[in-house]
Amino acid sequence: MAATKARRQRGRLRFARYLIHKTLAGFDFDFQPQLDRQLVAELSTLRFIEERRNVILLGPPGVGKTHLAIALGVAATEAGYRTYFTSAADMVQQLQTAHLEGTTLYKLRTYLSPSVLVIDELGYLPLDQASATWIFQVVSRRADRGSIILTGNRGFGDWNQVFADPVVAAAIVDRLLGNASVLNIRGRSYRMRAYQDAPRDTR
Ligand code: ADP
Ligand code: MG
Repeated sequence: MAATKARRQRGRLRFARYLIHKTLAGFDFDFQPQLDRQLVAELSTLRFIEERRNVILLGPPGVGKTHLAIALGVAATEAGYRTYFTSAADMVQQLQTAHLEGTTLYKLRTYLSPSVLVIDELGYLPLDQASATWIFQVVSRRADRGSIILTGNRGFGDWNQVFADPVVAAAIVDRLLGNASVLNIRGRSYRMRAYQDAPRDTR
């Protein structure tokens, strides 16, 4: 039984296509003191999945958004949920290609069927009208069906600049936030910690 369970877990992880393995245990909360630890602890119970609640992680580069998104997704696979990881740009491109090939419905299933869809890096690149519409399709169809864990580097006020069409932008924000937990991370970049920690007079 244990072997079967382990095999299924490996299968779920392979299917989910996480770029890299991250865990909540491997996250240094002391480095990011203004992060809402209580909310992260609540999310780690995975109740958000049963409640079809979305998780939005916003903040500048390097503060651990992708790390936390993957860690929650990995925890979900360990609990037996199907999850899937994609960047926003890749999802849009995949759907666009499927559209041209006439396989949109089939491709949409990739993004609609998992209990948890992790969409990484929204807002790094501006999205044209067609791309925004694909994001809207996924977000609105998943509403009340399954959770989205989304990471982005822009506050909601800037989403008009991310999406070419402000009406679609507003609709996406509306659907995403209808039932969501938002983690704003305002701290320092973990990638840059060595530089920031170094004394200034060593040059
Ligand atoms: P973001 O997605 O916000 O740009 P990442 O999650 O990719 O940032 O984090 C950058 C790197 O730093 C990753 O290797 C990540 O695992 C690591 N990292 C970030 N924050 C922490 C932290 N608080 N504790 C441990 N590792 C962290
Ligand atoms: Mg990231």
